[in-house]
Amino acid sequence: MTPGPERLIEGDLDDALWRLLAASDRDDPAAFTAEHDRAAAALDAATDPRWTAWRHALAARRGLVDGDPEAVAAEVSAARDALGRCLPCAHTALTLAHLAHVEVAADHADTGMVLAIDASLLAEAAATDGPSRALHQAHLWLSLTLAALDLEELAVAHALQGSRVADELSGVPDRWRLLQLCAQQHAELAQTLHRRGEAERARELAGTAMECAEAARALDWEPEPDEQDLLDVAQAWAMAGHGEAADALGPMRRAHKRVHRDGGTWLRGYADLVLARLLARLARDRSGGGHDAEATDLLVDAAGAFAASGDRRRYRQCLLELGQNTAAMGRPAEALHWLEAYRADSRRAHARSRELWAEMFVRRSRLREAERQTAHLRRVALEDPLTGLGNRRSAERRLAGMRVGAEPVSLAVVDIDRFKAVNDDASHSHGDQVLRRVADLLREHCRTGDEVYRWAGDEFLVVLPTATEPQALTAVDRLRAAVADADWGGLQLSEPVTVSIGVATAPAAADEPLGWRSLFDTADLHLFTAKRGGRNRVRAHGGRGVGEGTP
Ligand code: GH3
Ligand code: MG
Repeated sequence: MTPGPERLIEGDLDDALWRLLAASDRDDPAAFTAEHDRAAAALDAATDPRWTAWRHALAARRGLVDGDPEAVAAEVSAARDALGRCLPCAHTALTLAHLAHVEVAADHADTGMVLAIDASLLAEAAATDGPSRALHQAHLWLSLTLAALDLEELAVAHALQGSRVADELSGVPDRWRLLQLCAQQHAELAQTLHRRGEAERARELAGTAMECAEAARALDWEPEPDEQDLLDVAQAWAMAGHGEAADALGPMRRAHKRVHRDGGTWLRGYADLVLARLLARLARDRSGGGHDAEATDLLVDAAGAFAASGDRRRYRQCLLELGQNTAAMGRPAEALHWLEAYRADSRRAHARSRELWAEMFVRRSRLREAERQTAHLRRVALEDPLTGLGNRRSAERRLAGMRVGAEPVSLAVVDIDRFKAVNDDASHSHGDQVLRRVADLLREHCRTGDEVYRWAGDEFLVVLPTATEPQALTAVDRLRAAVADADWGGLQLSEPVTVSIGVATAPAAADEPLGWRSLFDTADLHLFTAKRGGRNRVRAHGGRGVGEGTP
C-alpha cells in the first residue's frame, strides 16, 4: 500500500496558508491544488472564525481553479459571513482582499468591487497597528484586483502602500515581490496615461517603474524564473515609456525569448503585448521602422493568450491596438474587423462598469455604515464592557507604544481588597456594581493625562506618563483615598470597599531602560507588599508608600 499524502495539523496551518497564497499569487494551479488537499483536514478541524473564513475563501479559489462558478459564489458568501465575526485587523483585510481577487477573476466585478472597498477600508484602519506580513499581502491582492477592475490609479496607490509596509518587514522576498508589482503597475498606468495624451505624467510614472525595478534587482534575492521574467518585461516596458524605447529593445527581445521557452500562457501573452507596444512605438518614432507587421502578429498571439487565460481586460486592449496598428499600416478593412470585435466586447464591459458606478453611489452610504461598524468592532475589541474602561488588550497596546526611558513614567496596579467576599457574601451583581463604581472613582480622581484600564478581574492599571515616583505616589494615594472615602452605604456590604496599590517608576534616561513588562511586574510586586502590609495602602520601591498604616 502506498502511503497517503502527508496531512497537516492545525499548528502548521499558518505556514500552509502562506504557501497557498504564494501559489495563487504565482498563478500555479497545480501547486495550489496539492497544497489545498494537504491542508483540507486541518482547515476543517479549525473552528476559529478566522480559519472558517479562510476555509471558505480557499475553497472559493479552488472553485475558480476547478472551473466551478457556483462553488465560488457559495464559498465567497460563506467566507463573508465568517469574516463578520472576525476582528477588524490586517488579517481580516487580507482575507477580504483575497476574496475580492477571487471574485474579479471569476468575472464577478460587482462583488469584487464591494469586497475590495471593504478590504481597503480595513487595511487603512489596520495600518495604525504597524506593519505586518498580512497587511503587505492585503495591499498586494488589492493592487492586482483594482488593476483588473481598470482602476489603475488605485492599483498603483496600493502597490506603493504595500511596498512601504514590505520595506519595514524583514522578509527580502516580500520586499522583492512588492517592488516588482510596483514596477509593473507603474508601467501599466504610464501606458494608459500615455494613451490619454498625458505624456509628462506618463514619463514620470515610467521613471518610478524603472526605479522600482532597479531597487528589486539590488536586493539580495533570487526569485523564481517566471517572476524574474515578469520583472524584466516590466522594466523594458518602463524604459520604453521613459523615452528609451531603442535601448529597451535588446533586453526585451531576450526576455521575450526566455518567456516563450519557459513561461506560462498569461506571461507569454504579456511579453507579446509589451514587445508589440515597444515595436509600435519604435515604428512611430521612425527610429526602428519596419516593425509593424511583427507587432501585429505579436498582438494577435497576445490576444489569444489573454483570451485563454481569462484576462478579458488585456484581451480587449489587444483588439484595440490591433485596430490602431493596422489602420496606421493603411489596412482599413483589417482595422475595421479588429475595431468591431473591440467594440462588441467593450460594450459589454462598459455596460458593466456603468452599473458598477451606479452601484458605487448607492454604496456610499453603506460604506459609511461599514466605517461605523468598524469603529464599533474596534471599540468592542479594546473596551471592557462592564466598566467602559480600556481592556487589557488596549492597555498592552498603549504600553507597547510607550518609550520607556525617554521620559519618566509610572505604572500603578490597583487591586480591590477582599473582593471575593463581596461576591460571596452579597452577590455577583453587587460585585459588578463595585467594579463599576471603583472604575468610575479611578477615572474621576486620576490626573488629566493619566489613563485607567481594567487589567483583569478586580485589578486595574493606571498609566501615569511623565510622573516621577513622588508625584505618582501622591497621585495614586488620592485614588486610594477616593475609594476608601466613598459612600458605599447603598450597597449594604459587610465591609467598606478599599483598594491596595503597587507603584513602579521608570526614570528618564535610565542607563538600562526597562521594558514595560518588567515595570509592570515591579508594580505588581509592590501591590503584593501593600496587601501583606494590611491592604488599603500604596507601596513603591524600598517599601516607600503612603496611605493607611504607612510606616
Ligand atoms: P485580595 O485582597 O487579596 O485581592 O483578595 P480578593 O478577594 O480581592 O482576591 P482576588 O483579587 O484574587 O479576587 C478577585 C475576584 O474577583 C475573583 C473573581 O471571582 C472576582 N471577579 C473577577 N471578575 C469579576 C467580574 O467581572 N465580576 C464580579 N462580580 N467578580 C469578578
Ligand atoms: Mg482583589
